Amino acid sequence: MTHRVINFYAGPAGLPLPALERAQQELLDFAGTGMSVMEVSHRSKEYDAVHEEALALTRELMGLPDNYKVLLLQGGAHLSFGMIPLNLLRGGRKADYIVTGNWAEKATKEAKLVAGDHVRVAASTKDEKFARLPKASELKIGEDSAFVHFTSNNTVEGTQWKEFPKTDKPYVCDMSSDIMWRPFDVSQFGLIYAGAQKNLGPSGVTLTIIREDFLEMCEASDLPSYLRYKLHAEKNSLYNTPPTFGIYILRNVLAYNKSIGGLKAIETANRKKGELLYGCIDRHAGFYKGFVTEKADRSLMNVDFFLPTPELDDTFVKEAKKAGMVGLKGYRDIGGIRVSTYNAVSVQDVETLVGFMDEFVRRNG
Ligand SMILES: *Cc1c(COP(=O)(O)O)cnc(C)c1O
Repeated sequence: MTHRVINFYAGPAGLPLPALERAQQELLDFAGTGMSVMEVSHRSKEYDAVHEEALALTRELMGLPDNYKVLLLQGGAHLSFGMIPLNLLRGGRKADYIVTGNWAEKATKEAKLVAGDHVRVAASTKDEKFARLPKASELKIGEDSAFVHFTSNNTVEGTQWKEFPKTDKPYVCDMSSDIMWRPFDVSQFGLIYAGAQKNLGPSGVTLTIIREDFLEMCEASDLPSYLRYKLHAEKNSLYNTPPTFGIYILRNVLAYNKSIGGLKAIETANRKKGELLYGCIDRHAGFYKGFVTEKADRSLMNVDFFLPTPELDDTFVKEAKKAGMVGLKGYRDIGGIRVSTYNAVSVQDVETLVGFMDEFVRRNG
């Protein structure tokens, strides 16, 4: 019997077991080729079927209208931080960035490197350690804004925009850590990007979704070819060799997501997991202390909390590991505990953790 742990890592993160088992089964002889998917040409009909299926499943699961293109790129969210201003903030265009955490701050810094003061800060909660999201009344968005950039889920701090920022401007959004956690209306989004390694697959693939009018806005013929969204759209993400194995695993994950009822079913499980975990924290409010200060902003993907002392945090992580649960140590700048409960983490996994947490209070509270 293979030994598997319960994986609460923040990223790379756990993947649905059936998606991995499918890869295991097909590894040595992919689609009757006598080779693994890593060993066949990205121009072969066998690989092409996987590529097309990954694109089609993304469209289907997210309910994307025809005026959106799906791209499978590389470079992680980090390359997107730069590609976005390089492609979109030309010709004097300006944009407003909402700074809600470690990654939002990084996105803003990178955009400023490219576009200087054409990148403006719409709001920041840095003074409060990013422990909450800005209120609608705190957002300063220019009339001349081409887009509002935000981070839908703040992976480090554990806040999540369950209702998107109030503005009539188009959104550009880093959804690396919560894409496909639920169904949502994409119509206000000009561009969505997500490194796959949290909620979709392995690292090395950046799912990018771009609306046609945003694609038309890209004025980038002077940029190095790989950095042009338009070129990737024209070439169906096959301009150069794509990360074929990563896209293959992404396909397996998406096919599995469809088989269990799509994003509606996934949302139901995610909400249940949140109720269990936050319910436990609130039940033992004198022992576990949540990092996020506004309950409405609490993330259903990353749950940050502290025990009464850093020593107890360490004991908690060690004992959880002995009980088969890994990845619980908080992000270095915050400390404490971070539980990442992405789509691949089951309700049962969270029930096991909550049982452990209740018991831990009984022994140490
Ligand atoms: C992990 C993460 C990133 C960094 O992604 P890379 O793929 O390593 O570039 C950026 N944004 C968010 C929201 C993340 O969770």
